[in-house]
Amino acid sequence: MSMLQKILIGTLIGLVGISIPVIILKSSQLEIPELKNSSMDFGKVESKNEESDEYQIYSKKFTSNNEVINTKVTELIESEVNEFKTRNSLNEKVKKKDKAVLLQSIDTYCANENLVSIKITSMTKNLFEKDYAKSIKTINYNVKDNADVTLDKLFKDGYTKIVGENSSENYIFEKNQVTFFKGDKEYKYTYNLLKEYNNSKLLTANNYQITQEEYNSLVSTLIDKDRKMVAITFDDGPHASNTEKILELLSKYNAHATFFMLGENANRYPDIVKKVYDGDNEIGVHTWSHKQLTKLSEQEIANEINTTADVIEKITGKRPRLVRPPYGSINNTVKSAVDNPFILWDIDSLDWQSRNPDKIVPLVVNDVQDGDIILLHDIHSTTVPAVERILEYLVNNDYQIITVSQMLEAKGYDTNTTRVFYSARQ
Ligand SMILES: [Zn+2]
Repeated sequence: MSMLQKILIGTLIGLVGISIPVIILKSSQLEIPELKNSSMDFGKVESKNEESDEYQIYSKKFTSNNEVINTKVTELIESEVNEFKTRNSLNEKVKKKDKAVLLQSIDTYCANENLVSIKITSMTKNLFEKDYAKSIKTINYNVKDNADVTLDKLFKDGYTKIVGENSSENYIFEKNQVTFFKGDKEYKYTYNLLKEYNNSKLLTANNYQITQEEYNSLVSTLIDKDRKMVAITFDDGPHASNTEKILELLSKYNAHATFFMLGENANRYPDIVKKVYDGDNEIGVHTWSHKQLTKLSEQEIANEINTTADVIEKITGKRPRLVRPPYGSINNTVKSAVDNPFILWDIDSLDWQSRNPDKIVPLVVNDVQDGDIILLHDIHSTTVPAVERILEYLVNNDYQIITVSQMLEAKGYDTNTTRVFYSARQ
């Protein structure tokens, strides 16, 4: 590939990646505008609003279980806020409707088990101005070495030949790419494109792609064990259309779920299996064809599990470990036929029975507690709107929505057993 071609690809990726910030009006009586956040791989964000005669500030307070990162983010946010206040403080009185406005949002990213990025977006409308201006500041940090990460540490000089004038001092690292923020534009470069200039072990895992284990390991170090957590599980899929709708909702709420798939459906929809996996969700086995395992011989049970695990491993490269027996039906023959942990549930939405979001949602949200495993089915279209309402409730009530393995690990359970788990309640 010529250098020109490389530059063209970089620019093309850059153009495709331009994101237009969305300012939404909350339906609350206060009508507080908010910047929509797009990724929350770790940590927690709360609103921190402030008002004077001259300005309205919709800022954020960030907390994670890494104190150094918390301090860095807080300092950066405060410096943006203080600069805004200085710029918009007048001695004379101004009309209220002419107030200056500052909107901030925080996004967090885990590129791999050691490298985290934080993006702070500020939209500013100064006094006597009509339009918003956008500014993005970033922090990149190695949580293992407790050190800032810079491009110079990760790439040899030559990378600038590819990135050229799209380079910027504000950038984030995601799983497969680095994104530069320059003015209103974003320029994305995959690590593959930059690999000849790669200079760091931080970007060498598995051909520049993080594995699910590495991701889980990072996320589990960043899961706040003092905050509530739940695992949402979806059985019987993947489904031709509903599964992807659910993936979009999970991503919107920065949630990750566990999908217990049927082998025959995984085999039919490999692209959807891949999307589930690529969205940092967990995949488990729900047998090949939904047979009740307690009616089968040990050999037949092992076959149902192994053929399903085989097809999922072929698609994702990762062999699933968790097993959910159809109907939750389990006995000693089932337990002795496989070496995997069995994941049942303690919150049953009965979504397959009611097919009615107004019945599904209360069954979940009225009972949910820290450590619960919630049962849903992604094959029913009526489950999709219920999932949105459940996610909204959980996020508003400060739950971390994570995979079954992440939750069991965070709660200190050993998943290398054939144990049966109904929840991770303690
Ligand atoms: Zn099922």
